[in-house]
Amino acid sequence: MKNEILLDAPNLGELEKEYLIKCIDSTFVSTAGPFIPEFEEKFAKYVGTKRAVSVQSGTAALYMALYELGIGPGDEVIVPVITFIASVNPIMYLGATPVFVDVDPETWNIDPKEVEKAITKNTKAIIPVHLYGNPCDMDGLMYISKKYGIPIIEDATESLGATYNGKMTGTFGILNAFSFNGNKIMTTGGGGMITTNDEEKAEHIKFLINQARDASRGYYHPEIGFNYRMTNLEASLGLAQLERLEEFLNKKRRFAKIYMENLQDVKEIKFQKEYENAESSWWLTSIKINSDKSISEIQSELKEKGIPTRRIFVPIVEFPPYQKFKTSNYKNAYEIYERGLNLPSSTVNGYDSIKFVAEELKNVI
Ligand SMILES: *Cc1c(COP(=O)(O)O)cnc(C)c1O
Repeated sequence: MKNEILLDAPNLGELEKEYLIKCIDSTFVSTAGPFIPEFEEKFAKYVGTKRAVSVQSGTAALYMALYELGIGPGDEVIVPVITFIASVNPIMYLGATPVFVDVDPETWNIDPKEVEKAITKNTKAIIPVHLYGNPCDMDGLMYISKKYGIPIIEDATESLGATYNGKMTGTFGILNAFSFNGNKIMTTGGGGMITTNDEEKAEHIKFLINQARDASRGYYHPEIGFNYRMTNLEASLGLAQLERLEEFLNKKRRFAKIYMENLQDVKEIKFQKEYENAESSWWLTSIKINSDKSISEIQSELKEKGIPTRRIFVPIVEFPPYQKFKTSNYKNAYEIYERGLNLPSSTVNGYDSIKFVAEELKNVI
């Protein structure tokens, strides 16, 4: 128990050092170099899409997905009301309107019934977020997507390696977003990926993020482009982390199991639930606690024992730029926010640390 317990710290080792040194020695540290295509190809193969396009962040991935679909002023995009702010900000960058819907009280994910109610003639996309790694009800969402002809963009930034009906998250939508921020399942320091089976869209995004440069004509730019390219340095780190991904996923899933086994008889605790045909990545094991103590009291008592925890994301409509988009009381989302907690899930932790957290949590409650 002497080791520091970490919530979501990255797991970096010798392989990462080896690839980084190789990258530095090659002098290709910027936006060209062999690690970039190799990382994209291996990532696409792992997830199971035809293409993967690397970008600077998960936020840039979501932004480019929306941009590629031509979303702009007057268009509505449906999103869950509890998520990280980066799921929503790209909608605003484009001048479009976020439409917030409530989540399911058990899985904490966007509820397809609520999505269907929120559809109007202006709805141009749906962004389901696989919260904390837990896959959404993709059967329900794909049904609605087909019925109304509205594309899905999966926010799979927290769910790399998670599956639904045996298929990876990030393969269902027309364009999907991953993140390699330092706190995610694997990291490139900072970075993101767009996955898709649409070759044309992949090519177009690849062109746009490189300043929309038509290299066959030198420095010629037929469209307004962006500089959202991943660097070779980042891709070298990504490749090393991808090789270790199964190790990380196995550990995260084992952590969730240890928490469940040790806390199953605590009636105040309810774990975020997977759909029957889904397997979460358990990026962060998350629970609801129904006790007389407030969540912040529980947090500070755990902190005294050296155990870091985090509150669930604040419902987005609480934030000043988004208050005007509140269209309901979002009962389930607020209850999850009031009573929910993320538990230490960094793969740097040992199994004994996770057991210790479970024991102490029991004592505190
Ligand atoms: C991390 C995250 C993002 C954004 O990823 P960045 O790489 O940090 O830009 C988007 N959505 C969700 C749900 C996230 O957790």
